[in-house]
Amino acid sequence: MKKSEKILSSPAGGGDRKRKRDRNMNLSISQYGKMCYNRGMETKRQTKEQGLSALTPPLLAWYRANARDLPWRHTRDPYRIWVSEIMLQQTRVAAVLGYYARFLEAFPSVEALASAPEEALMKLWEGLGYYSRARNLQKAAKEVAARGGFPKDCAGLLALPGIGEYTASAIASAAFGGREAAVDGNVLRTVTRLTDDHSDITDAKTKKKIREQVQRILPESDADLRIFNQAMMELGATVCVPNGPPKCLYCPVREMCLGYARGTAEELPVKSPKKARKREEKTVFVLLQDGRTALRKRPSSGLLAGLWEFPNAEGALDETAAPGVLKSWGFTPKAWTAKVNAKHIFSHVEWHMTGYIAEVRGSGPPGFVWMDAEGLKAHAVPSAFSRYCAEAAKALEVAGQEGNDGILEKE
Ligand code: SF4
Repeated sequence: MKKSEKILSSPAGGGDRKRKRDRNMNLSISQYGKMCYNRGMETKRQTKEQGLSALTPPLLAWYRANARDLPWRHTRDPYRIWVSEIMLQQTRVAAVLGYYARFLEAFPSVEALASAPEEALMKLWEGLGYYSRARNLQKAAKEVAARGGFPKDCAGLLALPGIGEYTASAIASAAFGGREAAVDGNVLRTVTRLTDDHSDITDAKTKKKIREQVQRILPESDADLRIFNQAMMELGATVCVPNGPPKCLYCPVREMCLGYARGTAEELPVKSPKKARKREEKTVFVLLQDGRTALRKRPSSGLLAGLWEFPNAEGALDETAAPGVLKSWGFTPKAWTAKVNAKHIFSHVEWHMTGYIAEVRGSGPPGFVWMDAEGLKAHAVPSAFSRYCAEAAKALEVAGQEGNDGILEKE
């Protein structure tokens, strides 16, 4: 629901009530909530003293009736739950579904993942981003396979590469029935709105406080406990949503929500502003020669570590400066296309890329690997280079049709 959407129903009715209702229909959700609060219309359950304790029954009833049918919710296998949790970090459910199915088909067990060739793993992860997640998955899989199974508690899980407090709690509770509150961004947002808490959610102290609050309201029965964390996250993901006003009119716990009652929900959560992203300029070359294009591997640490990339140089080089880079790599440039520019945004940096498609002669420096269209498809090239991948694939297809001759017209 957009900020400007109006309340569609109100407690008023008939005569004066109709006029009040019409007036109320022009209020936003937060204005309506504020009005109720100012008029003492908070329900008896909306008190900070009672905190979140009344939340569980309506939340679980709503979840049982409305939860999305997601594949990782049908299993208690720690491997499958772990893979889903890692994939879902910083990534939307819709984007994860296909990757999750393909990943488990290729690596159906922790042992299969532990022994997978890195190239195959990276290829399956291609486009999902945050590639260190995949590397850590494999490192952790090797440790789990060596010890003969997953640790069952948070402390043991936290010791595995790539597993933080939230993921450890999520696996311990969903796979092993542990009494652990799993607090992700969805839960932080929802709880601050429910309790009208204006603390900064990026602060570790706030996270700790909210985890303790949620830990205190974990349900008693095993059946409820098993779904509680998922229910909290589902509420945040589908009703108490980020990036826009919460859908309070559809919320199963609206009656006990202080943020709704006081009209503050849309201001929450409070987050300290992120640091501005660094801007980097690059010049990327799609090199073509005899029906093949050149890729090279990125360094083994840092951003996109160990993945394949199109050769590139620092800075936005113009048509006069760019051939100098090719010559420094030992190539003789033969033909060029016009610039192909692209931009890619990472969490902390953005790349602004000036690209050239160039037909060259010469084998280039060590580390340049020449591949045809099939080879290009088989290698994991991160989506930062997707524009150049598409250009290379197009040029190689043309080269194939023309018998590897005259890929580009000479300029
Ligand atoms: S009533 Fe609104 S703000 Fe409160 S928990 Fe529900 S969706 Fe979030």
